[in-house]
Amino acid sequence: MEHGYHGTTTNIKALRISAILIFVYFIFEIIVAFITHSLALLADAAHELSTVVAIGISLIAIELGARKPTPERTFGFLRLEVVAAFVNGLLLLGMAGFILTRGFNRVMHPIEIPSTPMFIVGIGGIGLEIAALYIMYRGQKENLNIRGAFWHVVNAFMGSIAVILAATFIFFGRVFVADAWAGIIFAFVLIWASYGLIRDSFNILIDTTPKNIYLVDIERDLKNINGVIETHHLHARAVAENIKTFSGHLIVKDLKDSERILREAKEILDIKYKFSLSTIQLENEELAESDTKELEYGERDHVDH
Ligand SMILES: [Zn+2]
Repeated sequence: MEHGYHGTTTNIKALRISAILIFVYFIFEIIVAFITHSLALLADAAHELSTVVAIGISLIAIELGARKPTPERTFGFLRLEVVAAFVNGLLLLGMAGFILTRGFNRVMHPIEIPSTPMFIVGIGGIGLEIAALYIMYRGQKENLNIRGAFWHVVNAFMGSIAVILAATFIFFGRVFVADAWAGIIFAFVLIWASYGLIRDSFNILIDTTPKNIYLVDIERDLKNINGVIETHHLHARAVAENIKTFSGHLIVKDLKDSERILREAKEILDIKYKFSLSTIQLENEELAESDTKELEYGERDHVDH
């Protein structure tokens, strides 16, 4: 972490306070949602829960990120953050599915829903979300984990607005179906949020070449090094969102040039492409290899971003 100990402690405190506030509110909202049968409240509560989980992930990531790797876990717990984001994405998707099924059912058979509890919960939510955004505002500029949590709360803010809008329609026009529609619309926000989470974490989990890294460019740069004939087994991966690693084999004309070639390759990988860790193997043409063919990629089947 680039910032000092003091900055980290402040950020952890901000996240912890926000998580506790939102969790207490979630309990309150889910109880009111079950009593009133309001789908808008249920959808908003689902989102609050996923926000608490997301902030929890940030906290764990900051905590575990400070822990040193061991010989048994050479990457420490860095990927745990990715696994947790994936699970949170699935959780959101499941909740969205549940709300959508209930929502369309409710559009067909609307039921009477009291608007006063909706107003109270919605306004309470807005107050709380503004407080959480205020607490996290400074930290989100310098820490990626906090930025993720920050945007979660921005979405939660929209959820509270949806609850208040639905309550307004019910209060002034007795349009009870407004509650179902607010739930349905917000369920789509949940699906959208879960899609980003699932896609990004899944790509890291299956070792997809990280975003904004084009292996074809790297291959070209490595081949341009004087003395390099061919490259193979090039792999770029992300251990966690910000830690990218590279490995590859270079066939060189003369192994006597190893030192210079390695230095130039390192410069390309570490400085130009900003890999946290790069591993290069130099080979000459006579070196017989039994490299597995399953890991070779063809010219045309690299993944496009
Ligand atoms: Zn090789």
